[in-house]
Amino acid sequence: MLKRYLLAPGPTPVPPEVMLAMARPIIHHRAPEFAELFGKVREDLKWLFQTRNDVLILASSGTGGMEGSVASFLSPGDKALVVNGGKFGERWGKLCKTFGVQVTEIKVEWGRAVAPQMVADALKKDPAIKAVYVQASETSTGVAHDTKALAEVVKPHEGTILVVDAITALGVFDIKTDAWGLDVVVTGSQKALMLPPGLAFVSVSEKAWQMADKAKNGAFYFNFKKERESQIKNQTAWTPAVSMVLGLQEVLRMLKAEGLESVFARHARLAHAMREGVKAAGLSLFPKESPSDALTAIAAPAEVDGQAIYKNLRVQYGITAAGGQDHLKGKIFRVSHMGYMDTFDVITTLAAIEMVLKGLGHPVKLGSGVAKAQELLMAKACPPA
Ligand SMILES: *Cc1c(COP(=O)(O)O)cnc(C)c1O
Repeated sequence: MLKRYLLAPGPTPVPPEVMLAMARPIIHHRAPEFAELFGKVREDLKWLFQTRNDVLILASSGTGGMEGSVASFLSPGDKALVVNGGKFGERWGKLCKTFGVQVTEIKVEWGRAVAPQMVADALKKDPAIKAVYVQASETSTGVAHDTKALAEVVKPHEGTILVVDAITALGVFDIKTDAWGLDVVVTGSQKALMLPPGLAFVSVSEKAWQMADKAKNGAFYFNFKKERESQIKNQTAWTPAVSMVLGLQEVLRMLKAEGLESVFARHARLAHAMREGVKAAGLSLFPKESPSDALTAIAAPAEVDGQAIYKNLRVQYGITAAGGQDHLKGKIFRVSHMGYMDTFDVITTLAAIEMVLKGLGHPVKLGSGVAKAQELLMAKACPPA
């Protein structure tokens, strides 16, 4: 037997309480019980998103939320600014082009965060830009973009909205939707929200709804205006993923019991221990700045194939991590510490990385990264009984 560990940056492990909640009998989505459940999770989602606006719940992967965030606000021929610092930034550009939107792209070197001044300059140069698309956490590189600073830059432009893909950010680190002025925030179920893949969530500001009123794009399913009409009545336009909504209720209960600040602090503690552990094992982090607390992207040592590390983690030790994408394939590998994660997920990951690297002939001192992480995590553990 090989015990399996899911340590990829999505999908992530689902707590047993949540799996049990999802095993409950299906509620008919037009029955009053569903409206009651839906109303409750909608309220709790506002808490999680730190917003007073409605948070739409869609039956789709995260990309569905992204697609609707293009189709619902922009019309063919409209202009958008896309921050492209990795695979997911690139996806914003592809989505815009699919809907006939003219794209100006800010290319950011993979491993770096966008300089807010670049966005400010681009908006100044072309005031016709209606929307700025960015990731709060670019999962392909493990870098966090400063959405608070970007919101400052976008806010003075009355005809421009800021759309944030927070799929590996929301529920990991602080995203103050209303206080910072993030117009549209998208997340998905299978990353920090400890659910299986299958739900997307999107909060929409008043400024963005006004843009939606004028938008002429042709989405049918990912049509936020249509969804909103139903969801404010605690209904959905189409058949919802009922079991997932039951699981979501349990996730929100767990997160509320822990408290938002504690959720962020836990992720920060695990991310810090992982990064320091990686360095203590003689490895380098891939991000050159602003590493995301959701996952750690690690540079493969020069003489070792990154894909071999990721494959051997799985084949030898049952650990599912992730490799690099595009030109980073073979150069990096990525491990997650978001969602249903705690101390020993980090320790396990670091131990396995050391074992795999040693097995591949790389000179690593077994236990070096583990010891560092143990020290850091012990210092933040609960007081002794
Ligand atoms: C996972 C992820 C997505 C969405 O991917 P889906 O496979 O559609 O759920 C989008 N953006 C980022 C940053 C992600 O990490």
